[in-house]
Amino acid sequence: MEITGWGRFPKVTADVHEPVDFSSLQMLLTNNNPATKLVARGAGRSYGDSALAQCVISSRFMDNFSTLDESNLTIRCGAGVTLDAILRVCVPRGWFLPVVPGTSHVSVGGAIAADVHGKNHHVDGTFCDHLTAITLLLANGDLLSCSPSKNQEIFHATCGGMGLTGIIIDATIQLRAVPGAFIQSHSLVANNLRECFELFENNQGNHYSVAWLDCLARGPALGRSILFLGDHIADRHKRPAAYQTRLGITVPFNTPGFLLNRQSMTLFNNTYFKLKRRASKPATVKYNSFFFPLDNIANWNRLYGAKGFLQYQFLVPKDSAYEAIAAVLHKVAKSGKGSFLSVLKKMGPANKNYLSFPASGFTLALDFKFERSLLPLLEQLDEIVLAYSGRLYLAKDARMNEKVFKAGYPQWEKFAEIKRKVDPKGLFASLQSDRIGLTDALY
Ligand SMILES: Cc1cc2nc3c(=O)[nH]c(=O)nc-3n(C[C@H](O)[C@H](O)[C@H](O)COP(=O)(O)OP(=O)(O)OC[C@H]3O[C@@H](n4cnc5c(N)ncnc54)[C@H](O)[C@@H]3O)c2cc1C
Repeated sequence: MEITGWGRFPKVTADVHEPVDFSSLQMLLTNNNPATKLVARGAGRSYGDSALAQCVISSRFMDNFSTLDESNLTIRCGAGVTLDAILRVCVPRGWFLPVVPGTSHVSVGGAIAADVHGKNHHVDGTFCDHLTAITLLLANGDLLSCSPSKNQEIFHATCGGMGLTGIIIDATIQLRAVPGAFIQSHSLVANNLRECFELFENNQGNHYSVAWLDCLARGPALGRSILFLGDHIADRHKRPAAYQTRLGITVPFNTPGFLLNRQSMTLFNNTYFKLKRRASKPATVKYNSFFFPLDNIANWNRLYGAKGFLQYQFLVPKDSAYEAIAAVLHKVAKSGKGSFLSVLKKMGPANKNYLSFPASGFTLALDFKFERSLLPLLEQLDEIVLAYSGRLYLAKDARMNEKVFKAGYPQWEKFAEIKRKVDPKGLFASLQSDRIGLTDALY
């Protein structure tokens, strides 16, 4: 069947297997033709081709909760459980996931494989920093338990390892107690990139922070943005069922690609900036509006047209972040190929995982409608990112080349060494891992 990642580019034909239980999953691995490469797929929310291969194995059946340990605040669940499902169980009890990405519709397996980060990386690190254990199904069909203190190397290769060490079966996650289902949020206006950096620096006390940027603004307004800040708060009005999903809307069909052009994007960015500037007052909002604003619009990925879109997310070290991001924004604004959604986050220190994306600095994510003429622009952006010792996020990538990957992830060789030990025949590989020279070349 034809499948894609969230960006709907590239589209490939693959054998998609939906095992119904653990023994059928094990059989799939052990009976697999050695020439066929496999990769696990969770909720399909990675943008590019990290969950695409000749043969794709869905983790959907692993949707069980096994333990909710109320005294230690941990939850153990299958890798196919979504973060949304966990929050529905936890929020009414006053607990929260320590790290959530910008959508709740990702699986636990996908969150571990990409070692996802949230709006609180500068405070709490990544999703995998809060795992106490995982169970991994290896290429030979054996189960292996790993944690920060047991089979550590395999643990650190699997966290952020994009499904290349094996299939994650379940995980135990450390939760946090929160005062309620609400977030006290407020927004601040930055008239340019320099002001935005200052706002991040001056508001480090907030648990969550993220900025929306007008990526088409030029000249003295380059990088004008709105910084959104938030903290968990008890709801004084004791509103019920705050954890329930709101009624949403659906994008019923692909938006014609020609509607997304420099003029329409500029109009959107201008209007959004002005509206948010006027409405920058403190507010108490439900957690899902604050963390997952786009989850309310089903199939919003159709907005970019039938050819799909790419997200370009890069990270640059703190000291050169201003210069690097200004250079990228300058190129993007000049090209006119902008996006509605440009998101800037401040990141804290890196962890021990070999391929995890976050490290001290800033990360900017930009969405672009797919068109052939986009690719040369992104190659120019790659050069800027590499010149400033940065890297691109694997979970968003559909096109990075081997040179860019290896320069950005200096621990790739250590990762490859562990992969060879746990998967000596190279069973697990994705289109992405072959493209960036992380798998095909190893075997
Ligand atoms: C709207 C939106 C906002 C986002 N915001 C953020 C954000 O703020 N921060 C962030 O870090 N990411 C963000 N992401 C990216 C997303 O969190 C990651 O791509 C995540 O990996 C998706 O999980 P998934 O279950 O959909 O995995 P998939 O897309 O299905 O797979 C992603 C990777 O995980 C592997 N994988 C999946 N399940 C397993 C398993 N059981 N065992 C082994 N490997 C497995 C796949 O092989 C693949 O390499 C966002 C994505 C969207 C669509």
